[in-house]
Amino acid sequence: MASEPASPPEPPAPEEGSPEPSPPAPGPHPSNPLGRVPILLYHRIGETEGRWQRTPEGLYADLEQMYEAGFRPIRLRDYLDGRIDLPPGYAPVILTFDDSTAGHLAWDEPGKPAAGSAAGVIQRFAAEHPGWEATAVFFINAGAFGGDSEAKAAWLVENGFEVENHTWSHADLAALDAAAAAREAGRMSAWIEAATGRAPVALALPYGRRPRDAAAVLAGSCEDHQFRHQALLEVGWGPARSPLDPEWDPLRLPRIQVADPGEVDASDLPYIWASWLERLLESGDLFAH
Ligand SMILES: [Zn+2]
Repeated sequence: MASEPASPPEPPAPEEGSPEPSPPAPGPHPSNPLGRVPILLYHRIGETEGRWQRTPEGLYADLEQMYEAGFRPIRLRDYLDGRIDLPPGYAPVILTFDDSTAGHLAWDEPGKPAAGSAAGVIQRFAAEHPGWEATAVFFINAGAFGGDSEAKAAWLVENGFEVENHTWSHADLAALDAAAAAREAGRMSAWIEAATGRAPVALALPYGRRPRDAAAVLAGSCEDHQFRHQALLEVGWGPARSPLDPEWDPLRLPRIQVADPGEVDASDLPYIWASWLERLLESGDLFAH
């Protein structure tokens, strides 16, 4: 009777205290430097699902689905600089939250985000999922986050999030003359720089409405503050291009709204994230190294 084959040698046990991280396994997506980069748009985070509201559980489930599908978050600033530092095979995604409502960042105690707020959900998700960094972009207005605005904006930047411009009063920029549009952009930029130590580089257009003259909100001065934005973000309706794509236009960056499909009219349904995710995975038109 043949003897049992010798079992292969056991891999050596890791040494106590040795640095553990081995390089992450490659992700599922083939290299595609001209593939699309989805920039997701959330509005309120609250207790029920709605057309403009996601629950904390819904947000967590979205992140789980992205994680499983081989997405990893990147910072908007890196994307604008053409720097997508992800391991091979992972598709970048940029999470954005507009309107700085209280559900985006509420405190349990100062400096400790409530578990049900967007920042709290993202931090918990990142802690539970290796390779997922706690980052997202908050496009804010005056009176951000329903109180303690300066401390919250500063906390976000200190903790790896980005705070960007959504105008001072959520203004319809198409309805303003150039001087008034510049004031809306400049006053909010000055506030963000004072609160966080870092001036914004991107402006999300309220209602997706473009100013008559985009130059007015791109660069200028407001009292003694110089502002400069290198990107304008829209409110719909599809994935953005790779920064390496010759047709990439940072002054017209589309986003994809996230909502429970059950809350969305049939006419909008093809344009929300659930639908785009399916199509993008099917076509494979996603950026990856
Ligand atoms: Zn808005």
